[in-house]
Amino acid sequence: MKAAILYQANQPLQVVDVEQEGPRAGEARVRVMATGICHSDWHIMNGDWPLPLPMVLGHEAAGIVQEIGAGVANVTPGDHIIFSFRAHCGHCLHCSTGRSVLCDGHQSVRWTLLDGSCRIRRGSQDIFQMARLGTFSEAVVCPAEMLVPIRKEMPWPQAALMG
Ligand SMILES: [Zn+2]
Ligand SMILES: [Zn+2]
Repeated sequence: MKAAILYQANQPLQVVDVEQEGPRAGEARVRVMATGICHSDWHIMNGDWPLPLPMVLGHEAAGIVQEIGAGVANVTPGDHIIFSFRAHCGHCLHCSTGRSVLCDGHQSVRWTLLDGSCRIRRGSQDIFQMARLGTFSEAVVCPAEMLVPIRKEMPWPQAALMG
């Protein structure tokens, strides 16, 4: 699988082959159909936001669910989805009062999966995923709670913009 990786601020992204582990419990693998570039990606690329690297950037995208891990009930393979760059645990105070955008139910950093581990490797090196997504990639393994199903007639570029 190919992904565009930032190894160092102010250097071009490198489009390279990487290995991707499949979804663990609560996660899904999504084939990316369209992704936007946001100023947040640019902040990381130009060094404004010094985050740990290497990282696959990209967090506003849409795609097709390919595979789901154990216990996933909100999406099924074949679903068209928009990625949400905020996780929402479903049971913190904010989630349970309908303001999941403020979710604080997860303690892990926002550039790994929820259990703090990575799903992308290149050789022996772990590659981080921006906003737990990293959509500058042919496929994304991420928490299934970050996937919002959409109708299949929604065009991909517009769906990515919603993200
Ligand atoms: Zn953004
Ligand atoms: Zn929450």
